[in-house]
Amino acid sequence: MSYNELPARLNELKQALPKHVTLVAVSKTHPVEAIQIAYDSGHRVFGENKVQELTDKQLQLPEDIEWHLIGHLQTNKVKYIAPFIAMIHAVDSEKLLKEINKRAKQNNRVIDVLLQVHIAEEDSKFGFDSNELTQFISGTDLANYPNVRVRGLMGMATFTDDTNQVRREFAGLKRQFDALKSETFAQNASFDTLSMGMSGDYAIAIEEGSTMIRVGSNLFGARNYD
Ligand SMILES: *Cc1c(COP(=O)(O)O)cnc(C)c1O
Repeated sequence: MSYNELPARLNELKQALPKHVTLVAVSKTHPVEAIQIAYDSGHRVFGENKVQELTDKQLQLPEDIEWHLIGHLQTNKVKYIAPFIAMIHAVDSEKLLKEINKRAKQNNRVIDVLLQVHIAEEDSKFGFDSNELTQFISGTDLANYPNVRVRGLMGMATFTDDTNQVRREFAGLKRQFDALKSETFAQNASFDTLSMGMSGDYAIAIEEGSTMIRVGSNLFGARNYD
């Protein structure tokens, strides 16, 4: 696998993005050399979905990378990323929020998080469905967690060629985001991030109001999991 084209792909994608959309370059399964190439071309925001892989890479790469954890996070692993993580995308329980708060505090940090909402058709163990999100918001006093800052929502659409369905799912997430922004988080300017859109569907996601896209294979090429 050659990463010669990576800087050009990154540049092209970033040029085409509206100003309010942040690109998280999803580097999972790709080597630190690839991330370094992207870094040297000026990119700083990278996403990984496994704690072990993330911490290994973080140690070997420049300090000023803004690391995003985009995958499911087990409570017992929060401590490994708390010293440096910039944003945790997939918070879906108060237990996890509480642990992030505790570890952030130990590191004298405030950690940005997104609440993961399950918008895809297929069954998933991860993410709140919209009822659970409502319950979580009404039943959780975020003031108890001063070292966590809830920045917004994250979701993944169904993996399908049916672009109408994908669009519907993103639009639904945007509605939930807007509702929270105008009610629960009305006094909270930092509730500003809607993380939706991957390689196959980021253009639709942006049309539907995404402010943060997570793009892997379009930049780094196909992943090899062997
Ligand atoms: C892997 C992954 C991505 C990137 O997927 P691509 O299709 O390669 O762009 C985005 N979000 C999450 C949560 C992922 O796990």
